[in-house]
Amino acid sequence: MMSKPMQDAFNEQMKHEFYSSYLYLSMSAYCDSLNLPGLSQWMRAQAQEEVKHAMKILDHLLDRGGRVELRQIDRPPAEFASAREVFDQAHRHEQQVTASINQVYGLAVDERDFASTVFLDWFVQEQVEEEKTSGLLAEQLRMVGEDRPGLLMLDRELGQRRAGREATAAET
Ligand code: MG
Repeated sequence: MMSKPMQDAFNEQMKHEFYSSYLYLSMSAYCDSLNLPGLSQWMRAQAQEEVKHAMKILDHLLDRGGRVELRQIDRPPAEFASAREVFDQAHRHEQQVTASINQVYGLAVDERDFASTVFLDWFVQEQVEEEKTSGLLAEQLRMVGEDRPGLLMLDRELGQRRAGREATAAET
């Protein structure tokens, strides 16, 4: 059985993961509107990964006899300044998610809920990947700048990513 503060923290984190999915779906649609189907595809796959993160938390709550609370998800921004801004924002967003995971982890330690710390280890590692990948893409888009052929090349490369597969360094 999980403590009430732990249940609250997981329900809140689950909401963050669903919001991430919403945000990346919005970014995906925006990239599509820029005629960048590869970037759009990459963000769509990312959105699907975020739903999986949320579902992992939902299952952990259920497995531990916790109460699942589906909280209100904020509306994500629909407009962005550029493809570069999209990935900059995604990178900043992942940094916030890391901070939030760390908070849940800290609470699990305080509560001596070691089943949860073990469960959260996966998320801690996942955030290292998420920050690395989004940071690299933001940096590469900065390098490309106004160079259209460079942007199209990056778009082709990112379009290789398919749902259900984690992004690998080779793809980014
Ligand atoms: Mg996530």
